[in-house]
Amino acid sequence: MHEELRKFGKKLVESGLVSSHFGNISIRVGRKMLISRSGAMLDELDETNVVEVDLEKPSSLDIIASSEANVHRAIYKNTSALAIIHTHSPFAVVMSLICDARGERRIIPVDTEGSYFLHEIPLVHGGAGTEELAKNLAAALKEHKAAIAVGHGAFCIGKILEEAFVVASMVEHSCKVRYFYDAFPIPDDTTDNLYSCGICKRSLPR
Ligand SMILES: [Zn+2]
Repeated sequence: MHEELRKFGKKLVESGLVSSHFGNISIRVGRKMLISRSGAMLDELDETNVVEVDLEKPSSLDIIASSEANVHRAIYKNTSALAIIHTHSPFAVVMSLICDARGERRIIPVDTEGSYFLHEIPLVHGGAGTEELAKNLAAALKEHKAAIAVGHGAFCIGKILEEAFVVASMVEHSCKVRYFYDAFPIPDDTTDNLYSCGICKRSLPR
């Protein structure tokens, strides 16, 4: 169990999805979860900076667990997730702020893998580690593999850490593509140089 946490903690840092001591990672084991400790560097995880806490209720160890342990607990209790990865990846954060400012409740990927596997990425509100955020994320992740806390970061779930890692990578890729796509508006005309995209319905150059 610790070996998997170590492996994917390292991959998260190497891929730029988290940096410094931000972000966190956990797996569910029966009625408990193993979660990175508060302030842990995710590329340095070992037995000393992973904490086992109860899923049913807050425990005395919560104080040394990630400050977002209550969010992970709510997700495990309300969804089928067995692994959770939380990133502060930059394009997910910036696209959540842009879409939220436009009054949008979700990010719609325009890239093929994001469209196919994620469909949409819900945006949720609530301060870091608050019960409001825990409740909103647990609700969003019942029907989705990922959701983004606006201006904060992505919460990605899976049956195993590898699946949650793939989802976290897709979220960042989709947000990056969407960011650059939106940055270059395409003229809305019907010349022969344009075709209608089957995914996003916008006119794109041939
Ligand atoms: Zn966070």
